[in-house]
Amino acid sequence: RTVYVNGAYLPEEDAKISIFDRSFIFGDGIYEVSAVIGGKLVDCEAHLARLERSCGEIRLALPWSKAELVAVHEELIKRNSLDEGGIYLQVSRGAADRDFAFPTDATPTLVMFTQERNMSSAPAAKTGIKVVSCPDLRWARRDIKSVNLLGPVLAKQFAAESGAQEAWLVEDGVVTEGASSTAWIVKGKTLISRPLSNKVLPGITRKAVLAYIGETDFTFEERTFTLDEALDAEEVFITSATSLVMPVVQIDGHTIHNGAPGPTAIRLREIYLDFAKKGGAL
Ligand code: PMP
Repeated sequence: RTVYVNGAYLPEEDAKISIFDRSFIFGDGIYEVSAVIGGKLVDCEAHLARLERSCGEIRLALPWSKAELVAVHEELIKRNSLDEGGIYLQVSRGAADRDFAFPTDATPTLVMFTQERNMSSAPAAKTGIKVVSCPDLRWARRDIKSVNLLGPVLAKQFAAESGAQEAWLVEDGVVTEGASSTAWIVKGKTLISRPLSNKVLPGITRKAVLAYIGETDFTFEERTFTLDEALDAEEVFITSATSLVMPVVQIDGHTIHNGAPGPTAIRLREIYLDFAKKGGAL
């Protein structure tokens, strides 16, 4: 695999960053993941807009324009002949002797790599996935896509040990979101997902779904929901750049929609894939 580190395209075994890099020492960095489908970037501009916002919130000045970053994405797709999967981008405040406050002389580190993954015909989309719930142990600024991911790592490990593919994080009696996805429930033709705030990451796939449902007979109700309400819902699904729209067929051992993907999630996934082949809905 060819990866990108600070201006250079290198074989992955030759790519190196400093042990003093602040993303390594403090988790002082931001990341993004964009989907690639049919060799095309999906909603990449929206991911880069969120990157700029996240960096702004931690006062990390990005030395690269969006156009430059898109060009690196495209070069990596080309060099790796990537047809389906994702591109991971991480920017950190740079390398400096260990001290909590910002260094005055560090230059940001930029790392990017591709990951091959079956997107348009992911086997999990045919069977649906299982979810388990656990307490939301994360910090108060989840709207920032920071590389501090210990909360989600522990939640995903709990899911893996429970035979599930995603963990839903629960706080103050309501579902905040998945460990790495936006949570949705369906009632009739109504799609329900919670409002954006500091408590959740503003999902780009969520935004894409909202952008295209205007062309369908689905409506959107933006509100929080409890785990019990999800257990009772007609359908449940998650969205993310890696799973796109993914039906959920079980939560904490309770069967949802007879244990099979529901028509709403299937339809939304189809529409999403149609947009993705044209570069996205945003
Ligand atoms: N919430 C969290 C905590 C996530 O990590 C992700 C994945 N980036 C999402 C939601 C979904 O965001 P997106 O649709 O932009 O991938």
